[in-house]
Amino acid sequence: MSNPSQVAFVTGAGSGIGQATARAFLSRGYSVALVDRDVELGQKTQAELGELGDCTFIACDVSDESSVEHAVEAAVARYGRIDAAFNAAGINGDPGPVAEASSDNWDRVMNVNLKGLMFCMKHQIRQMLGQGGGAIVNCASSAGLVGVAGLSTYAASKHGVVGLTRSAALEYVRSNIRINAVCPGMIDTPMWRRSISPELTEQLLASDPSGRLGQPSEIAEAVLWLCSSAASFVAGHALSVDGGMTVD
Ligand code: NAP
Repeated sequence: MSNPSQVAFVTGAGSGIGQATARAFLSRGYSVALVDRDVELGQKTQAELGELGDCTFIACDVSDESSVEHAVEAAVARYGRIDAAFNAAGINGDPGPVAEASSDNWDRVMNVNLKGLMFCMKHQIRQMLGQGGGAIVNCASSAGLVGVAGLSTYAASKHGVVGLTRSAALEYVRSNIRINAVCPGMIDTPMWRRSISPELTEQLLASDPSGRLGQPSEIAEAVLWLCSSAASFVAGHALSVDGGMTVD
């Protein structure tokens, strides 16, 4: 899958799944725009991953359309094109039942996970239309395929990501832009460790088919495949990478 001339644009690249995917793109010879709102993490990631290849940190809050537009322009100014985009920036918001839901939490989660991802696709697609094609992978979740008690707002945002992905895929597949989603299960990232205690993790894994957390690199491999020519006839698919967690 090595292709030295290709360029990837990764949001949420400063941490977890986004960072692991940026690493995988670099190790396959892509140049990578590392996009994140966390400047410290983004710069640290650039310094670490810079040993693997050409990468540039671009500060961006995906929930702000002008920030996204600027990030796409900056990536194209630096590298000339965007062949592959992975939209991983996301937050899980506050847990709790629907009867306790807050408008503030709803807005924060939707603004990043759904509206932000839509802005990212919009500007990536505009660039890809101009250059003749590309591949986009959106980071949904197993919570985009099944319900999760206590995380209804997050689950609604990720179901939205799957719907957005499927619809956009239909709009652009004839323009040589393939759009797919990846649906990670329980993955060992800073987000996971911040929000789920070791005790709760143990409880969740006791009834999980695989009995373990996934690694960010295991999501990265799926994203790399979806962006590669090996997946040339795959469009509008939501690929579970969850150790069997959502198997019926
Ligand atoms: P993570 O370690 O927290 O990494 C997410 C990165 O995205 C962070 O650097 C975060 O910065 C950044 N980000 C958040 N909001 C942003 C915004 N508005 N603009 C730009 N960057 C922003 O989380 P992760 O576990 O790798 O999650 C990555 C994606 O996978 C998310 O979409 C998440 O929903 C999805 N996912 C994760 C799991 C899991 O088990 N870990 C499972 C299913 C799906 P801040 O630190 O400033 O927020």
